[in-house]
Amino acid sequence: MATLADLIRDIPDFPKEGILFKDITTLLHDAAAFRQAIDELEARCRPYGATKVVGIESRGFIFAAPLADRLGAGFVPARKLGRLPAETVRAEYALEYGTNTVEMHRDAIDPGERVLIVDDLLATGGTCRASIDLVEQLGGVVVGCAFLIELTFLDGRAALPGYEIQALLSY
Ligand code: AMP
Repeated sequence: MATLADLIRDIPDFPKEGILFKDITTLLHDAAAFRQAIDELEARCRPYGATKVVGIESRGFIFAAPLADRLGAGFVPARKLGRLPAETVRAEYALEYGTNTVEMHRDAIDPGERVLIVDDLLATGGTCRASIDLVEQLGGVVVGCAFLIELTFLDGRAALPGYEIQALLSY
């Protein structure tokens, strides 16, 4: 059986020259592999006792929503600027390629609530850091951050000091 790592496709120079893009769609196409990824994230994240799971737009949603269901937690989308209809909090961040702003609905998280943040990939950590800022602006407690993939050479963990980080695959 192919491992999860075997099912990640490398796309050179996407979306810009010099970026080696980790394409997860090849893993998602495989029913057993997709389930295995969610199983492994569930096993690692259940001990955090989160009552909300934040998914980072857009590939984070793919993992955060089924994980929230497994954990019996609510799902919260962290979205790009201008996509959420109600009152929001905002944080700006730098990507490996470009900059962006992330938003969350102000009523998404209760003060003191235990929150898990989920994305497909940890690169420089800027996106996750901004999502942590959103949760903390709302008084939530970030109990962990979980990723399918970590690009260790970009040292994203340095941007997330003191937070619990889980990554299923490291490059
Ligand atoms: P960062 O904020 O630098 O940690 O970047 C993480 C975000 O950018 C995640 O939402 C990823 O989906 C995306 N990303 C960054 N670098 C890559 C890459 N090499 N391959 C695929 N996605 C990436």
